[in-house]
Amino acid sequence: MDKILNRFKFGFLLTLAAVTVLVWVAIFQLEPSRDKLVLDVFDIGQGDSIFIQSDSGSQVLIDGGPDSKVLAKLGEVMPFWDRSIDLVILTHPHADHVTGLIEVLKRYDVGVVMESGANYPTPEYTEWHRLLEQKHIPVIIAKTGQHIRLSPRAALDILLPSHSFIGASPKNVHDAMIVSRLTYGSTTVLLTGDAERPLEYQLIGSGTDLHADILKVGHHGSKTSTTEDFVRAVSPRFAVISVGRKNRYGHPAQQTLDTLAKFGIQTFRTDQDGDVKFMSNGRGLQKISE
Ligand SMILES: [Zn+2]
Ligand SMILES: [Zn+2]
Repeated sequence: MDKILNRFKFGFLLTLAAVTVLVWVAIFQLEPSRDKLVLDVFDIGQGDSIFIQSDSGSQVLIDGGPDSKVLAKLGEVMPFWDRSIDLVILTHPHADHVTGLIEVLKRYDVGVVMESGANYPTPEYTEWHRLLEQKHIPVIIAKTGQHIRLSPRAALDILLPSHSFIGASPKNVHDAMIVSRLTYGSTTVLLTGDAERPLEYQLIGSGTDLHADILKVGHHGSKTSTTEDFVRAVSPRFAVISVGRKNRYGHPAQQTLDTLAKFGIQTFRTDQDGDVKFMSNGRGLQKISE
């Protein structure tokens, strides 16, 4: 009986893998090649929202910020006729990450969604799942080792979570964070969501290559993240903090700013710099001023 069950499970996983491969192939055959990858860290107040357009035109939105402001931001960086986004990633269910994505699901055709699957009983997260179901959007549960090909030269690797959180109710939902590493040619970006100290040490301990040209600083620059050991492992040239003006949490923490300064990392903040845009040609990466 167990054997049959195992065989069934294996068959199911294979089918899932096949479906996944088809989805990824579809992601990068949509538009002609442009040879640049663009990363926008939107100034959407206290929250996170990051948009990636690969050289093939495939588009990924990571988090949607605390309200509908993300719609105007997408309108600025996407062609007016483009009403679809290939992949939307919700790093974790907190309102400052999921709320804007609810509006995105209503206005855009989303190809596939990735999330951790953790339980989190809030109206926003419930509405997010209701819309996913209503619109029949396929959902992939994130796990270490998943490799998402955005173009022949661009990919997103899922570094965390290390196990499935489906049906789990972690005491701190930040422990179920999706952390990913974007690669385009030889340039890299580490996208941490609100990952805190324990996850930073989990990543260091895993032996994964954490080096990145850009570090999206964890948890809005809170002192719960950005340990010296982690910054040393990532050793980025640039850091970006997504943070609201005069936010009630006092983010970013002086301690975080001091750590980044100590390592000589050029740091941008959405509360002071507005939208922060980077462009990569696959060999080098630069900050674009608008
Ligand atoms: Zn947050
Ligand atoms: Zn959070």
